[in-house]
Amino acid sequence: MSNFKAPQTIAAANGIAADTAFGAVVPPIHLSTTFAFAGFEQPRSYEYGRVGNPSRDLLGDTIAKLEGGAGAIMVASGMAAVDLVLSRLRPGDLVVAPHDCYGGTYRLLGARRDRGHFDLSFVDQGNGAALSAALDRKPALVLIETPSNPLMRVVDIRAIASRAKAVGAKTAVDNTFLSPALQRPIALGADYVIHSTTKYLNGHSDVVGGAVVAADKADLDELSDWANLTGVKGAPFDAYLTLRGLRTLFARIERQQLTAAAIAELLQADPRVLAVHYPGLASHPGHAIARAQQAGFGAMLSFELAGGIKAVRRFVEALQLVTLADSIGGVETLIAHPASMTHAGMGAEARQAAGITDGLLRLSVGLEAEADLIADLKTALAAAAD
Ligand SMILES: *Cc1c(COP(=O)(O)O)cnc(C)c1O
Repeated sequence: MSNFKAPQTIAAANGIAADTAFGAVVPPIHLSTTFAFAGFEQPRSYEYGRVGNPSRDLLGDTIAKLEGGAGAIMVASGMAAVDLVLSRLRPGDLVVAPHDCYGGTYRLLGARRDRGHFDLSFVDQGNGAALSAALDRKPALVLIETPSNPLMRVVDIRAIASRAKAVGAKTAVDNTFLSPALQRPIALGADYVIHSTTKYLNGHSDVVGGAVVAADKADLDELSDWANLTGVKGAPFDAYLTLRGLRTLFARIERQQLTAAAIAELLQADPRVLAVHYPGLASHPGHAIARAQQAGFGAMLSFELAGGIKAVRRFVEALQLVTLADSIGGVETLIAHPASMTHAGMGAEARQAAGITDGLLRLSVGLEAEADLIADLKTALAAAAD
């Protein structure tokens, strides 16, 4: 595969027209679980599907190039990707994770801590003193998620990664919310990048998958061995679909974030909306960091409706185009109510502490016409205030 420079070109063209058997322009899907030896004691580059598969490897190669890493391991879900990074930890190691990390990650970390696999400290990584106290305990791994879910808090990857490195910790960044089109954590000092490819990378809400990109070859090899041992690698068919989705990543997210910015401004100007959380707004507390470390502000936002749960119900029931559903990053606009959906398991008190109120709604902006989305949201805002 040639070494393309522009990331847009890598996404669109990596592996295209490389088929030697028939000249297929689109890389063929390889479903075979096993590969014939060329002769006795003559293995080919592929032997067995759990270990390696050309369709899966092409997707991994493309994502690794986009993230600027040594390689990627494609696994069955975003959670499997988080867990693969955690597999390197030993009893007594400390993990420092954001207090407002993805709900599944929060539960996985707690479950592994409870089984004695490692020690764990949740901190507000935007709070310098809290982060310093955690780093003083010499963690083995610092996990970062920026922007966070659902309040879109932004932290400085370069600053945290360099402080983590100074105490001997590896840094892993969950880059699911922005994708490599808008944020490249390895260039900012991260050792690992985690993706739920279910979201923007596939982008069509029809494949659950995950990826870990490692900056260093040695780390990559170790994770790859572990993924092979535990058998968590993703399916070739999923890899094929995800690569098809990834071809249009840049075109999708660039359009989606324009619409998201327009929606954020509409909501911010509306008296029925108490707060809008979108890093692209100058009023967002993380705006300056986002501007410096991101190539765009993304297509995720959340906002707080006046009138609490009653207004939320009226708003959601009035929507015609926007769909109430979990997940993000697809071509269709989805809305979620964190208090009753993604963050219901947290309990009311913990939600309150994290700033997740009953009036908060999260929007993943899709590719519908901006005017249609705005009309739908305006109708719902009027219904919410009735
Ligand atoms: C969805 C998500 C995950 C988990 O990914 P799955 O593919 O659902 O397992 C992890 N981190 C973030 C930020 C996510 O949005």
